[in-house]
Amino acid sequence: MAEESAAATPHWHAETAAVRVAVPRTPYGENAEALFLTSGFVQPSAEAAAARFAGQEEGYTYARYGNPTTTSFEQRLAALEGTEAAIATSSGMAAILMLCLGLLKAGDHIVCSRSMFGATIRLIGTDMAKFGVQATFVPQADIDAWRAAVRPETRLLLAETPTNPLTEVCDIAALADIAHRAGAWLAVDNCFATPALQRPAALGADIVVHSGTKYLDGQGRVMAGALCARRALIDETFLPVLRSAGMTLAPFNAWVVLKGLETLHLRLRAQSATALQLAHWLQAHPAVARVYYPGLPSHPQHALAMRQQSGCGGAIVAFDVRADGPEQARARAFAVLDALRTLSLSTNLGDTKTLCSHPASTSHGRLTEAQRQAAGISQGLIRVSVGLEHIDDITADLARGLDALH
Ligand SMILES: *Cc1c(COP(=O)(O)O)cnc(C)c1O
Repeated sequence: MAEESAAATPHWHAETAAVRVAVPRTPYGENAEALFLTSGFVQPSAEAAAARFAGQEEGYTYARYGNPTTTSFEQRLAALEGTEAAIATSSGMAAILMLCLGLLKAGDHIVCSRSMFGATIRLIGTDMAKFGVQATFVPQADIDAWRAAVRPETRLLLAETPTNPLTEVCDIAALADIAHRAGAWLAVDNCFATPALQRPAALGADIVVHSGTKYLDGQGRVMAGALCARRALIDETFLPVLRSAGMTLAPFNAWVVLKGLETLHLRLRAQSATALQLAHWLQAHPAVARVYYPGLPSHPQHALAMRQQSGCGGAIVAFDVRADGPEQARARAFAVLDALRTLSLSTNLGDTKTLCSHPASTSHGRLTEAQRQAAGISQGLIRVSVGLEHIDDITADLARGLDALH
């Protein structure tokens, strides 16, 4: 809706943009960004209203299309991702739906990773399939499989890196090359790394997808989402979808996420540093069979992750408890989770509070055992979204259950 701020402030570092980029202050001179709780906007004249509705003149009309608080969030996120523009949505899934409705039609084909977020797999593999959009799901880190899956009708490659919960990493620049040679778009879900650690657009991605619910808010309060891309793509392809489909971000939620962005860099660096300590501690624990964390040299894509994610592993660590067979593994994982007193047993992620979950029975509970095994989600797997608590309190809470296992 409003003019580009990222381009207008090229001299700012990301940390500065995260607290400074917003629409201009009102005449009252508020220092904290204003929250505009209004669904309609008064028009200066009938002529101006007509021009604004026709898209010939800048100006707010109706909050389904735009609201100044939401614009501030969009401008700030775009500045952090290094894209010309962004468009906010009511949730991360609403952003992926907007991506599909904007770019695809019946007969088109998508290539995406088989270890993507569960709801994304369902949206693309089932819901979009009903409208004649075909999809091929490939192994996340196998670049040759992505290349081989491309067809003449392929319009979109959709990647997520690192993935949830096994933190598999894929090479964004290599995928951009495959997509562009095929005349397709590359969209990257940057939920786990966030622009504080990884900027997919700089590596060639055309669209960056966000669940603002996670690290952008960072304190587990509101649902939000966004797409970041070139101005023309936002204005001509995605804004019309927002206007007709209405997956609009509520102004209050936009304000909360806007303020969350101010501490994004501090949080991600601190939570990532604690996650690395936790990953090392887990790796040394006798009751732990395997640790999944891109910051560990034992991670299969460690070098790529360090190159692509500003030398950080991110704040999600997953691990398998040692066990004989799936039944014992599940019982042991449950015992570790039920022994927690400080950390939260919760399936959200990206909070300042450390959250622990059992993917096989929650986020991936709707899959069959065969699908789960193909995705590498064992019954003994525990996911930890590392928060801002002291590392010793995190390890002490996990040790209570783990120490009792052997
Ligand atoms: C949570 C999540 C989403 C969906 O976001 P919502 O805000 O919950 O709709 C999409 N992608 C990834 C990687 C996620 O973790």
